[in-house]
Amino acid sequence: MAAQPWGFLRHPRVDVRKRPIAERLRDWRVVLLPTSAADAGVQAARCMDCGVAFCHAGCPLGNLIPEWNEFVARDEWCRAIEALHATNNFPEFTGWLCPAPCEPACVLAINSDPVSIKQVELSIIERAWAEGWVIPLPAPVHSGRRVAVIGSGPAGLAAAQQLARAGHEVHVFERDDRIGGLLRYGIPDFKIEKPVVDRRLAQLRAEGVEFHPGVEAGRDLTGQQLRRDHDAVVVAVGAHASREVDLPGRRLRGIHQALTYLPLANRVQAGDLTGSPISAAGKHVVIIGGGDTAADCLGTANRQGALEVHQLDHNPRFPDVRDPLTNPWPQWPRVHRTSPAHEEGVVEGWSREVVEFRGDEEGRVREVRTARVERRRDAAGHRDYAVVPGSERDLPADLVLLAAGFVGTDATPLLDQLEARVDPVRRTLLVDDGWATTAPGVFGCGDAQRGASLIVWAIADGRSCAAAVDRQLMNRSLLPAPVRPRSRPL
Ligand SMILES: Cc1cc2nc3c(=O)[nH]c(=O)nc-3n(C[C@H](O)[C@H](O)[C@H](O)COP(=O)(O)OP(=O)(O)OC[C@H]3O[C@@H](n4cnc5c(N)ncnc54)[C@H](O)[C@@H]3O)c2cc1C
Ligand code: SF4
Repeated sequence: MAAQPWGFLRHPRVDVRKRPIAERLRDWRVVLLPTSAADAGVQAARCMDCGVAFCHAGCPLGNLIPEWNEFVARDEWCRAIEALHATNNFPEFTGWLCPAPCEPACVLAINSDPVSIKQVELSIIERAWAEGWVIPLPAPVHSGRRVAVIGSGPAGLAAAQQLARAGHEVHVFERDDRIGGLLRYGIPDFKIEKPVVDRRLAQLRAEGVEFHPGVEAGRDLTGQQLRRDHDAVVVAVGAHASREVDLPGRRLRGIHQALTYLPLANRVQAGDLTGSPISAAGKHVVIIGGGDTAADCLGTANRQGALEVHQLDHNPRFPDVRDPLTNPWPQWPRVHRTSPAHEEGVVEGWSREVVEFRGDEEGRVREVRTARVERRRDAAGHRDYAVVPGSERDLPADLVLLAAGFVGTDATPLLDQLEARVDPVRRTLLVDDGWATTAPGVFGCGDAQRGASLIVWAIADGRSCAAAVDRQLMNRSLLPAPVRPRSRPL
């Protein structure tokens, strides 16, 4: 079979299958089921190979989607992985986790179901690993230049791999005890199993990247040391400063930020802990927030055995279908989305906020007072939420998880020592069009620069930043740069 202009007329879109809910709630294994090569071939054959393919402009990496669809449809999997790796260092990270902004940009999405691009991507890379086609690609020539990468999330790893392949000596410093950033500690095992991260790290090591876990730059290693000992420094420290909720009762025990709660569950699965010190077992749980992080708290709480989970979002629920007048193709559709975690059990509260936490005499949270809110703009044009009088409702709550977003980077001591300036409002690293910070020889990329975003953006940033570093070190670079620091999605 080959990709055919009329393939989508013959074959319906079939979404990736998931394990049954009752089964997956009993373990922490990944929710999605593998797609057979034959099924992936059929889905890939739905691609029309458009003259102007919008899908790959929808992907920040510029993935060559029509090309690899064609190869998969023709059963030429080796060529498919070559085309996929040409633009994406880690297709398994995106294959498992990307929300796939490419799919609503697919031309078929104008009036039909788009190609299941992400499913095909995952099938290609998982087959490539299974067949032994993913091998180390060490640089044939060494430049004699030394680069420090601070932070080992997808941005730091992409920058490190690109720079090592360009012949530089790369050292990655990570404050956690294991490498991987949010892929390791944050994103639950039921979304990406950690051996998937480990097998990729083995490739980077074989290509010469040296990892230094358990080293916090700015504390164990000063900014001055980093600059003195390296020809360039890449800061990819993420955006881990969690948004606070400043409400009466916030200091009660049992109220935790998502990024305190989720890594503990990862550590249980890694075998570091026998049980999480913050567990939802037998508890009434309230989650505040509506994004990926909140969904991950939900899936985690249900697996730990929560009695009931309420998720509150101060935003109104999006409609089920897009409004073609205000939100036309190929824009990202502003529609209601659910994650697999939502299918597993939740009581959703839209346009509803917590206004007070209440505790018992021992200082533990026991209840939250919630209220319906309406979105409005204040005199300065800032969005704000006003409580609707008389809409208050109390919910039992023995565990409250705050997943209200992130407000920039928390690596302040390092950035101060490096003298790298931070945007005072967004608390993200300021860089110029060449990814250079205000400190000579210091570059920044990923969430630390962009603000909390997505893995696909982190990889694209890391690749582009590596090209800028390589150019500075060698006066020229052949490394690709798919995005600019201020690029925005299609
Ligand atoms: C709970 C959660 C779930 C998510 N789920 C998804 C998803 O399903 N799909 C998706 O596309 N995106 C998801 N995201 C977003 C995605 O994980 C991030 O956009 C991405 O990881 C950013 O990559 P990064 O390399 O910039 O930073 P990070 O992955 O945050 O890595 C930064 C690393 O720097 C380290 N570090 C910080 N300071 C120092 C220091 N001073 N010295 C040494 N090391 C330091 C940190 O410990 C961390 O390991 C999720 C985010 C969260 C929080
Ligand atoms: S990385 Fe994400 S946006 Fe790009 S092709 Fe894959 S699923 Fe689509």
